[in-house]
Amino acid sequence: MLKRRTLRFLSERDLPRRYEQPSFVSSTLALPNHVWFTPEAIIFDAISVYVAVPWLWQVFKRAVPIFVFRILALVLLSLLVVSPKVQAESSTTDAVKSIPIQNKQVIQIATKITADQAPVTRWPVPFSYLSSRFSAYHKGIDIPSKYGQLVYPFKLGKVIFAGWDGGFGKIVVILHEDGFVSKYAHLSAIRVRKNQEVSTKTVVGNVGVTGYATGAHLHFEIHTKDGAADPLYFLP
Ligand SMILES: [Zn+2]
Repeated sequence: MLKRRTLRFLSERDLPRRYEQPSFVSSTLALPNHVWFTPEAIIFDAISVYVAVPWLWQVFKRAVPIFVFRILALVLLSLLVVSPKVQAESSTTDAVKSIPIQNKQVIQIATKITADQAPVTRWPVPFSYLSSRFSAYHKGIDIPSKYGQLVYPFKLGKVIFAGWDGGFGKIVVILHEDGFVSKYAHLSAIRVRKNQEVSTKTVVGNVGVTGYATGAHLHFEIHTKDGAADPLYFLP
């Protein structure tokens, strides 16, 4: 019986009749002033602000021991002091990371800007990516490049071969100090002669597809006294 009455009371059918409230009066802000400033409202406000809030604060203070406040204060202080630094560092890191070019290129660009004199070592062509890495069966790296791209020695040296060599196509071989030898293969044109001394600013040739090559790229090898080595160890 009671349940039935309660249900009736809560049923939506009864609500409009019991609370004759227009639908647009949806918040207390819409109440007229005479409702806000009734004596009851003023007394209720006074009690809540001047009694309830200080009382709650006292309860809170007693409930939480003082050392917790100190720890909280320290944490807040350290956050205020440390977080701007951390943020600054992370944003710098992000800025570096967000440079949309690879590290090798950054180095290349930095080298290009700062060095009017020839750099000690350099990439023979601008670094793009490696289409083939160094291995036992491929004794160099393949750097895809645009056809005709200028090719530079990776280091100061002297040309010991410039011409055609089977699968390498047009190739330039340069001898460096300590018996290092570098090779630049599949060139479309050779721009140096045998015995010519070259620096890292001398154009030795142009990228091409001569010999055994599919697509314009530079096949680049470095040989030490011990044999072929991975050029990535020696490039900047
Ligand atoms: Zn290759």
